Amino acid sequence: MQAPELPPMEMDSQTHRSVAELMAQLSSADSITDPTQRDAALIDSLRTIRQELDMAQKESNAAKARLDNAQDVFNLAAHYLAGGSVPLESSRTEDAASSHHLHTYNTTKPPPLREPSRTKLTPKSYEESLEEPLPTNPILMPPTYTSGADLTEEMTSAHRESFYRTLLGISSSEVDSYIPNEKQPNLRSKAQLVEGMHIVEHWYTGADGLDVGAFRSKHKTWYTRMKPNTSNLGRRTGIHVRALAPSLDSEGGETVLCRYNKEGNRSIVYLDVGKVYDALFEIHTMDGHKSREVCKAKVDELYANVPDGQVKVFIETCPICVERKEEGKVGPVVRLEGL
Ligand SMILES: [Zn+2]
Repeated sequence: MQAPELPPMEMDSQTHRSVAELMAQLSSADSITDPTQRDAALIDSLRTIRQELDMAQKESNAAKARLDNAQDVFNLAAHYLAGGSVPLESSRTEDAASSHHLHTYNTTKPPPLREPSRTKLTPKSYEESLEEPLPTNPILMPPTYTSGADLTEEMTSAHRESFYRTLLGISSSEVDSYIPNEKQPNLRSKAQLVEGMHIVEHWYTGADGLDVGAFRSKHKTWYTRMKPNTSNLGRRTGIHVRALAPSLDSEGGETVLCRYNKEGNRSIVYLDVGKVYDALFEIHTMDGHKSREVCKAKVDELYANVPDGQVKVFIETCPICVERKEEGKVGPVVRLEGL
């Protein structure tokens, strides 16, 4: 059989090959019966495909760079529009229109469009004030548990009662009207969380008849206290608001107060004090009564304000764990002894 004619090996680097052309070349190479010729033709084919891949990759890189630069100019324009001056790290050495490398900023020369007046704290909306996109992990609230897993309604109700009695010295029926001391950083009522969202959302605009400075000054103590300890995230604050994801008992969309997790890549939500029981029920009771350490780790993946002490109280009052402890079986409660 005669070897089919092959396309030339050398290609103009600007010439595109369609997938159909590449396939045709490949199958004609594959159809050669002489093994040596077939191998040579296949290698040629491979080279052509490789060339096409390289070209496509280069174009993709160029498009990505164009996208990045356009995004930079867009952000800058939005920043000017919002009345802001150029942040120091974004001062440029070149004219924006002629520059293809907006990332090579320089801090020594003032930007061309900067207003001569001194930098002023300019009101911005919450959305505009975000320095980077918020995390996108879905935010869910635990449902209200009345029973579940190995707990009957009666046991759950008794456990809820015992949990809040031990934790706060109040009945579970009083939880919704309970106002935690604001100095207690982890306990928050619904109203306090709503106030928190109000503060976060108006931190850059001011509100309630107060300008930005007065508004911040009024809420300074609150704000400092709510700031996460891991403040080395490179952000002004770790506190932000997110919308709830849809769940079984909710359509979602409700705004909730969040902060960043330790790694800074996820939003974790603040729970009001009445939801703490349900959150722990979901994590501990619904998942096989795992140890305090396991539960605490899961808590930290989801929630912003549930300290170890609350996990401890939950497990120490858990009827199943208490029973296991009394029976002397190995369970999480056993390990809590002596703590
Ligand atoms: Zn338990």
